[in-house]
Amino acid sequence: MKDNNCIFCKIANGEIPSRTLYEDERYRVILDLGPATRGHALVLPKEHFANVYEIPEDWAAGAMKIGQQMAIRMKERLHTDGANLIQNNEEAAGQTVPHFHLHVIPRYKNDGQHMLWKPGKASDEELDAIVKEME
Ligand code: AMP
Ligand code: ZN
Repeated sequence: MKDNNCIFCKIANGEIPSRTLYEDERYRVILDLGPATRGHALVLPKEHFANVYEIPEDWAAGAMKIGQQMAIRMKERLHTDGANLIQNNEEAAGQTVPHFHLHVIPRYKNDGQHMLWKPGKASDEELDAIVKEME
């Protein structure tokens, strides 16, 4: 199902033009218009799923498979030094467009980006409590 009010539905299905790096029956990979680094791409399903909680397992797996292929191709063609595959869900996690998308962000030595978190601290009791809550 598409969502008529969703910009990524329109882009994924070719109703709004995009710079497309890859396309098949289920997905389109586009260049992000606000790239974190050179070659930053988004894997978009052509069906509308808001986030990781809504997307069916096989669609999520398929997006990751294409993300992997893109990262490999970027290494060959763009001579990247690494990649972050990032997928944000809900506002608290930084999702700004509520249509599932996987970021494929090429990394270059000294590219000046900071996408990793600041490590925190947790006691043994806290870690044990989480394991119990997740059972
Ligand atoms: P997120 O914050 O994970 O929801 O990521 C949304 C991403 O979509 C951001 O990196 C934006 O730069 C990108 N973006 C928003 N609108 C467009 C668009 N029309 N074409 C390409 N990328 C877009
Ligand atoms: Zn959509």
